[in-house]
Amino acid sequence: MTAPRTLLKAWQLRPRKSMGQNFLTDSNVADAIVTAAALDRNDRVVEIGAGLGALTIPAAKAAGRVLAIEKDRRLAELLKTELAVWRIENVEILSRDVFACDLDSMAADRGDLLKVIGNLPYNISSQVVVKLIDQRRSIRSAVLMFQKELAQRLAAPPGSKRYGRLSVLLQYCATVETVCLVPANAFYPRPKVDSMVIKITFHQPAAQMVSDEKLLRRIVKAAFGRRRKTLRNSLAGGMSELDTHGAERLLIEAGIDPKRRAETLSVAEFVRLANCFNPDNALQIPEKK
Ligand code: SAH
Repeated sequence: MTAPRTLLKAWQLRPRKSMGQNFLTDSNVADAIVTAAALDRNDRVVEIGAGLGALTIPAAKAAGRVLAIEKDRRLAELLKTELAVWRIENVEILSRDVFACDLDSMAADRGDLLKVIGNLPYNISSQVVVKLIDQRRSIRSAVLMFQKELAQRLAAPPGSKRYGRLSVLLQYCATVETVCLVPANAFYPRPKVDSMVIKITFHQPAAQMVSDEKLLRRIVKAAFGRRRKTLRNSLAGGMSELDTHGAERLLIEAGIDPKRRAETLSVAEFVRLANCFNPDNALQIPEKK
């Protein structure tokens, strides 16, 4: 792989901070990501933020087909030329914003599940995780680079300080493993923080553990919105249907001590809460006055 600095210079380009451009310079890290994605010739890969192709090229060598999403048109153009130089023909470059891409339709035309990879811009990583959760029925796994703190939050177990809203929502539908820690000097330009690669494997077929997923999201948001408070108070404060009595009744019905805090609840306990929260059941949560 040509060094990012050299390649950019040849094209008279500079890294754009606004696009979160920190290019991988260490091919060992690129190889570690591709290895963790466990690609074979039958796989269709979606890469988010292909940049200069640090991951695109090794992925194309291992997979059947790579759909490389890159928002920056100049980079998409550069990458196209680079791939031709390397005689790589199984990559399709989509010069688009990832949030304008529908992964369901990318998977649907062949019926196989996608494998996602990417060294994500830090300013959109949380939104990307939410997007992947929303489209998880089309995704087998995702191996992604995150800012270290966010990666730790996604993988955090209950009871730890980093365990929060996204940990619950992701672990509800996926297994999360740490792949490797990546120091700031593996990138050009060098970011201020260290990074971490994690592998997300979505449960397939998606287990329908709660009947109303929107409700689960609202409960989790309310619980962690005031994470220092007891659940009785955080749920009463964050859910319009509940006052403290209703919140207490709901928690007891779900077998959870109302004095506990959000960060101590397992994913299974959040699921129980969502399933007990049903205006039709015996609970009869009172209307808030
Ligand atoms: N994968 C490359 C580039 C990483 S930098 C490498 O590892 O070297 C992140 C890349 O994401 C940049 O190329 C940036 O232009 C692109 N990007 C930023 N926002 C994007 C968006 N919303 N949709 C798609 N690509 C985006």
